[in-house]
Amino acid sequence: MARQFHLYNSLSRETETVEPLHDGHLQFYSCGPTVYSYAHIGNFRSFLTADLIFRTAKSIGWEVTYATNITDVGHLTDDDLTGTTGEDRMVQALQSKEGERFANIWDLARYYTLVLQEDWRSLNLLEPTVRPRASEHMREQIKAIEQLLKSGHAYETSNTIYFSVPSFPAYGRLSGNEAAEDLEQGVRDVVHDPEKQDPRDFALWKKDDSHLMQWHSPWGWGFPGWHLECSVMAQTYLGDEIDIHAGGEDLIFPHHECEIAQTECLTGKTFARKWVHTRFLQVEGKKMSKSAGNFYTVRDLVLPESEGGRGIDPLAVRMTLLSGHYRKPFNFTFETLKTNVRHRQRFDDVVALAESGLENGENGQNELSGSLTALFERTLSAMLDDLNTPEALAATFEATKLVLKHEHLSKDSAASVIRWLDNTNDLLGIVYPHAPLKTESGDESFAAEVDALVAARTQAREADDFTRADELRDELTSLGVEVMDTPDGPKWKRRSTLS
Ligand code: AMP
Ligand code: ZN
Repeated sequence: MARQFHLYNSLSRETETVEPLHDGHLQFYSCGPTVYSYAHIGNFRSFLTADLIFRTAKSIGWEVTYATNITDVGHLTDDDLTGTTGEDRMVQALQSKEGERFANIWDLARYYTLVLQEDWRSLNLLEPTVRPRASEHMREQIKAIEQLLKSGHAYETSNTIYFSVPSFPAYGRLSGNEAAEDLEQGVRDVVHDPEKQDPRDFALWKKDDSHLMQWHSPWGWGFPGWHLECSVMAQTYLGDEIDIHAGGEDLIFPHHECEIAQTECLTGKTFARKWVHTRFLQVEGKKMSKSAGNFYTVRDLVLPESEGGRGIDPLAVRMTLLSGHYRKPFNFTFETLKTNVRHRQRFDDVVALAESGLENGENGQNELSGSLTALFERTLSAMLDDLNTPEALAATFEATKLVLKHEHLSKDSAASVIRWLDNTNDLLGIVYPHAPLKTESGDESFAAEVDALVAARTQAREADDFTRADELRDELTSLGVEVMDTPDGPKWKRRSTLS
């Protein structure tokens, strides 16, 4: 029987069944970070929701095209503050003390993009199908603006191209901010562009030949408005209509509202069928902020103490983030983190017990298969029920407890445990540290080398040459590879380390 995947849709304000437009193939977009600094654990709470949608859809056999962007273009976060640089986070970062070490703003963007990807891997988020950069999609953004101007959904003033909100009557449906007066309130205090026709209109292009990041356009030098990149990148990689669009709750308005307006005016079709938003993370009961002393980047927690971090197992951080449901406000505390360090240790204990069972256990009884299958089923059902991570985790904790009641495992029980570990890792990413550094297909020579070593080890074991077999295992370990002996023969995974 086909499994059903339910998610809460912020647009309909109801929990709905996900039914991919293309049978069994989900098209999914999630808003990525602005690369002006190190990502914090709040950012990663939102990215994790996207990772879990990706993993859960794959676990029920769907193909998923998952796109998540890198915002590496400086944007004014408020359209009305024309000409001031103060609101551009990338420019601000370059001008700050930390910015001094970068050659220029492109160098800064490149550095924080690399760091983001390292943090991504350390918290075991899977690589998306495509990770497009805003700076590499300028042509598409300019073309979209030309099209919107032509169809009367945009207009040009002396310093800006604006999207005309009254030209799209559905504006405000996602956020509930439908009345122009609601918005007037918000913009009254800032410098107003007198050429703007409606207070809700937002910038598609800023004409500015003094900005640090600028591109040539039919309207002279300048840069795009901050909503446009997601519209064009989603369209480029996923098509006019997508199944799910995700992001943090702060993006509902104005970002996602504006994305809908732009895309639907460009295509005449419904942009995203479901909208998924993650509630904000707080730390120790307060909004995370540098001045309150409760601001944590991923690196603050997971880097070794010698490098200024706290040396916490990244997967314990991941489990802590999973311990709250994405639609409820989440309070990150060091107490919960400590508890999850212990839970994480239990997974390592289970892995060690299963490996030793496979290696040294007797053939015979399998006491665990039935219970582990049922517990994994509970985990999967919880994830299919609007990503109920607290319940999914609870089932995995029950399973580790059950396995660790045994001092030894038979070979068959150990094989069932490994299967359960693999399935749990595929779905929740909490068992084996670090996803592969490179996509499997991109690294064939490495795979061939490892395959040859694994085959040599199997031969040595068959010839009872355990010294040689152990040497080969050590060699594989030094390559960062972990070998697991399963009833279907040896399998290997790469364990990368965070540098
Ligand atoms: P930014 O780099 O500011 O564009 O943010 C990247 C993502 O992180 C967006 O989806 C934000 O909504 C999300 N985000 C920012 N702060 C938090 C937080 N405290 N809790 C959860 N998500 C957040
Ligand atoms: Zn976006």
